[in-house]
Amino acid sequence: MSTMRAAVLRDFNKIEVEEVPIPRVEDVGEVVVRIKSCGFCATDYKAIKGIRRNVRFPTIPGHEPSGIVSEIGPGVVNFKVGDEVIIQPSGYCGFCRHCRVGNTHYCEHAFVTGGDGPDDVWDGAFAEYMKTRECCLFHKPAPISFDAAALTEPLSGAWKGVIHYSEMKVADDVVVIGVGSMGLLCLMVAKVAGAGRLIAIDTSDYALRNAKELGATHIVNPTREDARKRVYEIIPDGPDLIVEAAGPIEAVRLMADLRRRGTRWNVFGITTHEKFELDAGKTHFLEARMDASFGTNPLAMTRAIKLMETGLIDTEKIITHRFDLSKIHEAIEVMSSSQRNKVIINP
Ligand SMILES: [Zn+2]
Ligand SMILES: [Zn+2]
Repeated sequence: MSTMRAAVLRDFNKIEVEEVPIPRVEDVGEVVVRIKSCGFCATDYKAIKGIRRNVRFPTIPGHEPSGIVSEIGPGVVNFKVGDEVIIQPSGYCGFCRHCRVGNTHYCEHAFVTGGDGPDDVWDGAFAEYMKTRECCLFHKPAPISFDAAALTEPLSGAWKGVIHYSEMKVADDVVVIGVGSMGLLCLMVAKVAGAGRLIAIDTSDYALRNAKELGATHIVNPTREDARKRVYEIIPDGPDLIVEAAGPIEAVRLMADLRRRGTRWNVFGITTHEKFELDAGKTHFLEARMDASFGTNPLAMTRAIKLMETGLIDTEKIITHRFDLSKIHEAIEVMSSSQRNKVIINP
């Protein structure tokens, strides 16, 4: 069999499941994976709907995959056909100045499967098969389901932001602004890392209910109450760490407003180019350290896999919908609803 089913995006709002050739290894280090499961990311949804414009057609979306190795190219030494794997979407060279110090997500020769960022975009995993390079593969431990494993990349991003960059410590009082799928993963990481008070802020009661179930000690809806006042009632000393996982600029402004002396704050969710103002003197005297975090790297992927393998975090808990690839239009419909968390495509 030389063809496969894939969801091909031919223009904005024009995506259909088609029969296309199965990708084959052509070069050293390349591998082809039979995709079992792929997370449906908001980035994919934005590309399909034309909200994100940096898309070259035709393309196959999907950058949160897990599957089984089906073909290996020359020089592949750590994986063989039949291995169950998790795929990091961001490919890297391993040799440029950024890769040499572990920041593979800054790689000067980067490529990405099914996503955006680098200029070099490969077809993604809303397909039965996907080609990538060996450097992007991780062995999937047996206890982790393919669906849970598909969420390794977003979980790794949460670990990287909360733990690696913002250095959350046990008993820190943590505020997460925006508790959609990414915010919930940040919250789960903070919970398992021993957060003291863990406050979720969101304008959606659906999201806040989920946050409460997954370990938030307090929930705050800024459409109904003054978020700053409420946070300081809960934590009179103010937060040790604030993570913005929301997206809108108002969330970043709220984060800046919630700081006290020594607060660490992470610009994590926003990707649009909007401005916010800081009082320079106040910034000086607050010594509130600002971090930002995007993407992932092998260190974060490895940590995320360990969080799941040891049972510390169960990413299945945030999966609300699963669709066969043939039901891609139903999946897109669900993505536009506010009553969902993580949507999984099973090709
Ligand atoms: Zn994503
Ligand atoms: Zn590099």
